[in-house]
Parts: sequence; structure tokens; C-alpha cells
Amino acid sequence: MKLDDIRFIACAVLGQNGNADYDLLLSRVSSLRGIYENAAMDMVVFPDMDEDWTWSGISKEDGADGISFSRLEALHSLTPEEHAAVFDCLTFMLNARTLKISMDGVLRRLGRYYHASRIYILALSEKRRTVTMLYEWTSRRKYSIQHILSGMTLDKFPLLQRCMKEKAPIITRSSGESFGFREEGKFWHYAAFPLFSKTEVRGFFCVENAQKHSDEPALINAMLPYLKQEQERYRNMSAPLPLVHGVLTRLPNLRAYLDIVDSLTSDTFSSMGALSLDVPNFSAINGNQGYDYGREMLSYIAETLSDVFGKAYLFRTWDAEFVVLYLNTIMEVFVSRCTRLRTMLQRRYPGQIRIGYTWADGIYNARNLVKEARSIMRCETVWKDTGERLAFLEESRFDVQEATSRGDFIVYFQPKVDMRDGSLAGAETLVRGIDRAGHIVPPGQFIELMEKDGTIRDLDLLMLEKVMEQMSEWKRLGFPDVNVSVNISRFTLFNPTTLASILAIQSHFPEIPPERVALEITETAGDVEKATLASVVDSFREYGLRFDLDDFGSHYANMSIFSNIRFHAIKLDRTLINDLPGNEISRMLVENIVRICRNFNMSCIAEGVENRQQEAALLAAGCTYAQGYYYARPLPVKRFEDQYLRQNRA
Ligand code: C2E
Ligand code: MG
Ligand code: MG
Repeated sequence: MKLDDIRFIACAVLGQNGNADYDLLLSRVSSLRGIYENAAMDMVVFPDMDEDWTWSGISKEDGADGISFSRLEALHSLTPEEHAAVFDCLTFMLNARTLKISMDGVLRRLGRYYHASRIYILALSEKRRTVTMLYEWTSRRKYSIQHILSGMTLDKFPLLQRCMKEKAPIITRSSGESFGFREEGKFWHYAAFPLFSKTEVRGFFCVENAQKHSDEPALINAMLPYLKQEQERYRNMSAPLPLVHGVLTRLPNLRAYLDIVDSLTSDTFSSMGALSLDVPNFSAINGNQGYDYGREMLSYIAETLSDVFGKAYLFRTWDAEFVVLYLNTIMEVFVSRCTRLRTMLQRRYPGQIRIGYTWADGIYNARNLVKEARSIMRCETVWKDTGERLAFLEESRFDVQEATSRGDFIVYFQPKVDMRDGSLAGAETLVRGIDRAGHIVPPGQFIELMEKDGTIRDLDLLMLEKVMEQMSEWKRLGFPDVNVSVNISRFTLFNPTTLASILAIQSHFPEIPPERVALEITETAGDVEKATLASVVDSFREYGLRFDLDDFGSHYANMSIFSNIRFHAIKLDRTLINDLPGNEISRMLVENIVRICRNFNMSCIAEGVENRQQEAALLAAGCTYAQGYYYARPLPVKRFEDQYLRQNRA
């Protein structure tokens, strides 16, 4: 992290000492923080005091969806001692790392303040007939009654029944018999405060044997709304300042992520999908389009994430950085959700958001999966700024959408040869676009764009269909069988409906054995957690489909990819071949890869062979198949037929 990435936004709200309404102050400061949180520079902000600061996020009397509390007196009527106790509790809550720590800490403070023997929170369950003790604090001389009380029916507790009936706090001094427990000691003091959900009593806050301040319930009344709020904060796993509206601000933050990530492993969950998302140019977007735009963008992302992934763990780990952990799910479900997310976000913010995801079962841990998803995410490029990209599109004669709708894509074939005798060993099919003027457009100009807008899958399947049509035609014409390979993007590969679509296409051409067509996937698909890629490849292999690993060695020669994924062939990237004749390291690398391929019974094909020296070096390294301009450029169908098929017609 660079120092430039850090911003300090201080929001200050002032209240008159002694009669300040702390709820209101907190809500003001939270709203301010919400407004300024995307600010690009350090700042201190004060609210405009003329504004109407009525805030509906936390109601003192009745929450819209949760428990609310009866309040005997307002906060400002607290004594200085009670004030100090409230502050002590709130400070502790803000610094607590878990709900349990937070609640236990508050009960402990209140217990000491009242010199009580026990303080606890009861919830009503089973149609409000049974009590469960959620939190308990006991003084040193007392034992825990959590297990004794939990599960008992309400009719055992006449005091609580009365509290429920009257919907008001009950404070009593008695022998204790009416409560059902007989406690030793000088006197029995018992206080029960009802906890409401809307208008219904759903639980109780109970204080046993308060020896000090026993007739001063104002402190507890003041604290109850905060205890309720604290439960909601953790229920939503929210950020440290929870009092702002919207999914975005409720998303748990980096601290929450770090708290939990190491506990999510294959020991606890059978499988897990991890997704990483960011907006790399977020500060530029804020600067160019304004904070409102940036804020709206983040809110939209947060809402889409929570719509698509529902109950998953969602985190906002940084300003414009999100992590999703999706537990106990099959890969198809996870991938289809990721695809849906991508489509939804790309539609609204094309070229501005990066997404990477991965899935694992077997042995894994969440931290590594997130690392993996993040590294895949980083492979994605975003547009520098929208203006630049649009200018490029306007200048370009090739309109992808128009070409897609007109079907203006054709197939070129580039031969693969056996270097030992120059014979044809197969062909790679490569897409070409045709612009309005009839010019051929290379894939470099549109593949990336189609990957971003989600149309790449249609293109890949269209190519497969065209190729199979062509092979069928060659068969009809009596041409020799050719093994072909078709490029498919990793977005196509990981789309859960792709396998079915491929099988459907193949079923139209029963005369072409499926093993004649290999699918080329690039090494970056291997950035996906190996188990993910392996299981996708395996599921395709069950139907006789083969995979070639394209561009191997272009990023890094990741040998581990061979250990659990069975490719039919490995294609050495042309960057490895370029300087092969003179570069000892490239030569050793190629020799090793060739050896591994042989051990695993995979073919090895060198790409981008452009001269005789490269061919000689490859043969010396043990590689026998090649593809490149030295033999032939990618050719249109007719020329490929003329040069490679016609003379060998059966
Ligand atoms: P690729 O699959 O690695 O294809 C090989 C690329 O190298 C082709 O570029 C080919 O024309 C070029 N090439 C072949 N021999 C040589 C050589 O000796 N020297 C040099 N410098 N280049 C050579 P092309 O046709 O422009 O395709 C670029 C990339 O576009 C392909 O790389 C592939 O990743 C992608 N692509 C092509 N067709 C499709 C498709 O139908 N679907 C998808 N998803 N991607 C495709
Ligand atoms: Mg290829
Ligand atoms: Mg390649």
C-alpha cells in the first residue's frame, strides 16, 4: 500500500455538555462520514447546523425490524456517574472484535456498576414459551446458570411473565421465591427489562441482586438501544461505524475479513468459492466523474453482490475492493453466479471493474483461495478512461456488436506440421472479423472487448459450429481427416452451460468423432485454483473432449499445472521459441517441458516458428510438432484446402 492511498476523514459534531443527545450526534457524524467517505484527500468536516438532522436510522423507541426498548428517561437525564459508565461501555463496544466480547464486556461493566451478582440477557423462543440465555455475567462468587435456565419454559418465571404482560420493566425486592430461585444473602433484588421486537416482547435484560444504584435503572435504559444496535451490527457483519444506511456501508470491512478468513477452511466447509472484485481506477473516477458517481458505483456493486450471492460472506476490504466467500456450494452454481455478476456489472460499468474467482473442494483454505482469485482478477485489464476507449471504437471500422448480429466472423486455418517430414499434423482454427468495407479484422481487435461484454462465449461456440460444419464438408468431399483445435476463452470454459452447448453442437455432426476437435485454453486459465480447472477439464473429458494448453510459457511456465490436469497437447508460446537458438535457458526450459509432455503422454507443439534455426533447435530439444509462419500463415478455407487437403484426397 502506498502512502498516497491513505486518507484521513475526520467528521466532527458538537453537543452541549450535559444535555447532548448522543444518538443524534452519532447519527450526524455517521451521515457525514457516509457523504465524505469517497473523498480523495484528507479533510475535517463539520455538519451544516442549519440542516434538518432528523435521522431515521435508529429509533429510540421502536426499530423497524428488530427489538426495541422501553426507555424510562432520556440519555440527557443521566447523572455524571451514569454518563461515565455509558461512555465506558460504548468505548469498549467500539473496540471489541466480536459480538460476544462486546456483550460480555458491557455486562461486566454494568455488573460492576450495580454491584450485582448476575446480569444476563434472555431471548424468548418457541412461540415465546421458552427462554434461552444469550449472554451472562456473574460476580466472582456466583456460578453460571446459563445451562440451567436455557430451555426452561416461561411459566416457571412469574416475574418475567409479568414483565411480558405489562411490557414494562419490573423491579422488585423480595425473598426471591417468586422468581423461582432462592438466593442466599441479605436481600433479594431483581430487575427485568423487556426487550421488544416491534411491539412484542422478545426477551429480557435481567439484573440480579444489585447492591448499588438498585433503584436507578436509567443507565440500563440508556444502554439497551446500543446493545440491540450492537447485535444488528454483527448480524450484518457490518463495519465499525454501523449507523449509516445502505448495503455498501453495512458490508463488513477489512478487519472483519481478517478476523474470519483463517477460520474458513476445508475442515469446516466441504467446498468454497472465492471472488475478488475491484475498481482499479476508482480515485480517477471519483476525480473525473465526481464523488456522487463513485459512491453510487460502489453502492451498485455492493447491492449487486448481495443480490447475486445472498447469504455468502461479503466484505468490502478497501474503498473499491470487495471479497465474496461462498460456502458449501457446487462449482456450477458458484460460477454461474459469478457470470451473472459480471454481466450485470459490465452492463452498467463496462471496462471499469475487474473480477477474478476460483472454487475449491478437497483441502483448501479461504486465504489462499482469495489470493488466487485476486491474482486472476489482476490478469484483467480495464479501460484507462471511458473517453479513450470510445474514441478507439469510433475510429475502428469494426463494430463488434454489428458483426455479431450479422454473423460477420469467418474461420482461418493454420496448419500444424510434423517437423521431421513436413507432413500435416493438424490445424488451429483462428477467428477473423469482417468489417463493413469487407476488410479482414484480426482477433486482437475484438476478443478482449468481447470477453469484457460477455459475448465471447457466443463467438467461441459459433466458431466451433463453423469448424465442425467445415469438417463435415471435408468428409463429404473425401478429404483426409484433420485434427483441429478451437480456441475458447476462459470465460467460455467456466460458464456452466458451455459443456451442454458444445455437446449439442457436436450432436449435429455425428460423423465427426469428438476427439478430432481439441479445445485450446490459455495458461491464464490455469491461474484458477488447480482443482477448479481440473474438475472442469475432467467434466468435459468424460464426453471425449480434449484440451490443449495454449501459450504455455507466455506468463510463467507453471509446471504444477500438469500435475493434476490431463491436457492432450501443450503449445509452447512463441516467446519461448523466439530466442531458442541462442538462449541456453530457453533451450533447457523447452527440453524439460518436452520431457514432461512425453512422460505424461501429451503432445508438444511449438508455436510461432519463423525460421529454420528455430526448427533445428526444437528438433534438437526433442520437440517434433510446430506451427508458424515458417510453414504457413493462418489461411482462409479454400487456400488451406488447396495447399494441404486436395492433393491428399482419398
Ligand atoms: P493463439 O491461439 O495463440 O493463436 C496463434 C496466434 O499466433 C495467431 O494470431 C496466429 O496468427 C499467430 N501466429 C501463428 N504463427 C505465427 C508466427 O510464426 N509468428 C507470429 N508472430 N505469429 C504467429 P491471431 O490469429 O491474431 O490470434 C490471436 C489470438 O486470438 C489467438 O492466439 C487466440 O488466443 C485468439 N483467438 C483466435 N481465434 C479465437 C477464437 O475463435 N476464440 C477465442 N476465444 N480466441 C481466439
Ligand atoms: Mg490458440
Ligand atoms: Mg497460442
